[in-house]
Formats: sequence, C-alpha cells, structure tokens
Amino acid sequence: MGSKGREIVGLDVNELLTLLRKAYADEWLAYYQYWTGAKIAKGPMKEAVIAELEQHAIEELNHALLVTNRIIQLGGDPVTDPRDWFKLTNCTYEPPDDPFVKTLLVQNIAGEQCAIDVYTRLMDITKDKDPITYNIALQIIEQEVEHEEDLQALLEDFELMISAIKG
Ligand code: FE
Ligand code: FE
Ligand code: MG
Repeated sequence: MGSKGREIVGLDVNELLTLLRKAYADEWLAYYQYWTGAKIAKGPMKEAVIAELEQHAIEELNHALLVTNRIIQLGGDPVTDPRDWFKLTNCTYEPPDDPFVKTLLVQNIAGEQCAIDVYTRLMDITKDKDPITYNIALQIIEQEVEHEEDLQALLEDFELMISAIKG
C-alpha cells in the first residue's frame, strides 16, 4: 500500500474498499454468467449471441482486474474466497439454466443495468474525492453501457426476425 496514495483519498477508505470488493464480486459473477451462457446458448442467431457473450466475458474479467488492482493499491484485502462473491454481490447471478438465446440476452441485460447503477454510484461517491477510483469506474461504466447496447441491439434483431417469420 502507498501511504501517501491512501492519504490523498478524501473519503473513508474502508467504506470505499467495501464498495470496491462488492463491485469485484459482481464482475466475477458477470464473467461466469457470460462465459457459461456462451457455452450453452441455443436458438436462432446463436452464433452472433455467442460471439458477443464471449467478448463480454473477457471484458468483465478485465473489470475484475482493474477493481482488484485498486483494492490492493488502497491497502485492502482482495476477495480470496469465491464463496464470498455471493455475500458481497450487488447484482447477483442468474444461472443460464434456460439456454434459449432470448432468455440469455434478457438475463444479461438486467446484469448490465445493475452494473451501470453500481458504477454510477461509485462515481458519485468518488467525484472530486478520489480521482483514481473515479477514473477506473468511468472506464468500466463506458464498457457496461456498451454491453447493454450490444445486447439490446441483438434482442431487437431477434424480435424483428421472429415477427418477420410470423408475417
Ligand atoms: Fe463489468
Ligand atoms: Fe458488462
Ligand atoms: Mg460487445
């Protein structure tokens, strides 16, 4: 931990660490939800859906890396036990038990919307108080917003295709 680096944070560092640990748990669960969903997806447009889910999985894992690096920099404990993910998570985890592409899209859209709320809150709290965490949250939320739009665009195409078939 850098002591001066911790000192310049104009917030209760322990409270900030709690929020970061919660966001970290969300990222691993999001990673796994995408990664597993990509393995089992079935239905129309599944190639396009799988490609997007796989890409998002990689990006969620990178968010976990960005968050844990900041936790360590602030002198916090990284979450070492995956069993803690469910105690810490804001956004929970939807097991992709229904492999239908539409169901997977809807579940992951909900996850992205939750993630957008989490990072909006983190940015509100760190604005003008901790520019480093703020900047990390900004980088991540830019990608969460992109994820939501990617999935909603796929869902829209899916619905258009189904209505075209129905005539
Ligand atoms: Fe993420
Ligand atoms: Fe995301
Ligand atoms: Mg994408």
